[in-house]
Amino acid sequence: MTQVVTDAIVLHSFDYLESSRILKLVTRDAGVRSVLARGARKSRKRFGAAVDLYSQGTADLQTKPGRDLDTLSAFDLTRVRQQLAASLPRFTGASMIAELTLRFAQDDADPDLFDAVAETLDALTVAAPDRARDIALGGAWRILAAVGIAPTVDVCAECHASVEPDAPAVFSHPAGGTLCARCSQLARSGRTLPPEARAALRDWLAGESHPLGDVNAVRAHQRLLREFLRHHLGDDRPFNAFDVWESGGLETPLPASVP
Ligand SMILES: [Zn+2]
Repeated sequence: MTQVVTDAIVLHSFDYLESSRILKLVTRDAGVRSVLARGARKSRKRFGAAVDLYSQGTADLQTKPGRDLDTLSAFDLTRVRQQLAASLPRFTGASMIAELTLRFAQDDADPDLFDAVAETLDALTVAAPDRARDIALGGAWRILAAVGIAPTVDVCAECHASVEPDAPAVFSHPAGGTLCARCSQLARSGRTLPPEARAALRDWLAGESHPLGDVNAVRAHQRLLREFLRHHLGDDRPFNAFDVWESGGLETPLPASVP
């Protein structure tokens, strides 16, 4: 057994046997971990709000090489994010961020990823209804940058020539980002991004906020992100939380167990 003490955020939580819960945590020092919180449902004293979704704290984990499930010995809570449940755009945005993180993260230390998730959830917690979607979009691109698959914005993804920043440019998912004029003529597919869309991507990948002007811009960015994720995952596993977030959360009611 090895003890790991690290900052952690609860991204998923479900009941296990009679009295326990299994949590999925993103941690600063050990990537994404599945952990068993023994007795968490019997006594709130031991873990308190630590078993709530999006809670953050210092987790004390017992890990064993070759075993998929760690044991959670203690969780010193530093932050709860109950306000995420206060509005649909916040809640569906946080669910999408959790899904994305669990799908792309590995089990090794990634402080950039941890900070990207923590700061995105913090921003969503206080987001005005008309900002929650662009904050979630920005967080998603920042997370993709942290796990090493950021698209290019100002450099051609094929030939590495610089691409004029204030002009429309073709974005190719197979190439991995923006293309120069010459390469875009040779490309089989691609979507032309206006300068404003490239400016948003540039800011988000750098971890900065970038409000979007209207619902059409939000929709276009959601579509671009969805296509990018699909291309990089290379599988057909459903992106349930993403779909609910993209549809505005209106077609699917909130689950009964909102924290
Ligand atoms: Zn090129």
